[in-house]
Amino acid sequence: MNLHDQYERPLRDLRISVTDRCNFRCPYCMPAEIFNERYQFLPKPHLLTFEEITRLTRIIVRLGALKIRLTGGEPLLRQDIEKLVAMLNALEGVDDLAMTTNAFLLPQKIDALKAAGLRRLTISLDTLDDEIFRQMNGGRSGVDKVLAGIYAAETAGFTPLKINAVVQRGVNDHRLVDLARFFKARGHILRFIEYMDVGNMNGWRMEQVVSAAEIVETVDAELPLEPVAGNYFGEVARRYRYLDGEGEIGLISSVTQPFCGSCTRMRLSPEGQIFTCLFAIEGASLRDPLRAGATDDELEAIIRATWGERIDRYSEIRSSLTEEVRDRRKKVEMYHIGG
Ligand code: SAM
Ligand code: SF4
Ligand code: SF4
Repeated sequence: MNLHDQYERPLRDLRISVTDRCNFRCPYCMPAEIFNERYQFLPKPHLLTFEEITRLTRIIVRLGALKIRLTGGEPLLRQDIEKLVAMLNALEGVDDLAMTTNAFLLPQKIDALKAAGLRRLTISLDTLDDEIFRQMNGGRSGVDKVLAGIYAAETAGFTPLKINAVVQRGVNDHRLVDLARFFKARGHILRFIEYMDVGNMNGWRMEQVVSAAEIVETVDAELPLEPVAGNYFGEVARRYRYLDGEGEIGLISSVTQPFCGSCTRMRLSPEGQIFTCLFAIEGASLRDPLRAGATDDELEAIIRATWGERIDRYSEIRSSLTEEVRDRRKKVEMYHIGG
């Protein structure tokens, strides 16, 4: 029987963060001042092995999570990631197997990922302006590298791609239309993401958020849009299609129009904790019992209990929290559990 939480939300999706490391330093996610050479990333023995990830995923899929996404950190930094893709692809009952990546290493990995059975790709690119992009990834990459990854993904047949763009006021919000025009022409689905207060390190302020409504208005003024009904329960992006019939965009409005009521996502961290919310404070460890010899039934009982007790709806209560309470609340970092 499918598992439901305290608000009757089923478990449908699993996001697996395969590493806490990244080759970018996007200030909204892993600011370079904090994630410098002194920062202690997880030592290798703490990370779940591919066998451990696959075993836990098999149990979580049995409980209803049919859509799997690999993320991070940067998932392509995990050595031999394609082997994990192949192992997950072989599991029974997985409807969808996707990855979110910054695409920097994609040209050299794409064929192996395709051969291993990866079905869909989301690539993050916040702007086409090289100077702004460097600012938004901590000086680690030019736009050309990400475009090379996008072209490699197109050649390998991963079309349409989803492209994630975080929008920050005063940073990239004046370059949204050219981004939309570029991906419209290439037939990909651009998703604008409201800048979120994930983790505790990005110094988030509400003034830096550009609302989804404002983003739609900006794009619509030059490339007319109309809303489209959602595809399925739990779809996070609000969809708009171009009136000329050529393509669509998505808006992930976690701040101004939260969607906790239909949030069906569980997150597995690199060291084997499950989290029931992007803004969770604590996770439940599956690695410790697993390494202590727990059976599948015992691990399943922990997962059932964790989802069964779930009452998370942070984005819906965010605005009722004072800044002080928000700042004191120690949340898990995004690079740890993936977007
Ligand atoms: N490194 C990969 C990437 O960037 O695509 C995967 C992990 S990253 C944490 C997943 C997604 O989260 C990316 O699309 C990123 O832009 C988004 N993200 C990170 N920090 C964010 C924030 N503060 N607000 C909104 N989205 C954020
Ligand atoms: Fe790395 Fe992705 Fe976070 Fe940027 S958003 S720092 S690419 S994990
Ligand atoms: Fe889901 Fe938590 Fe985000 Fe709400 S705040 S949509 S419960 S991850």
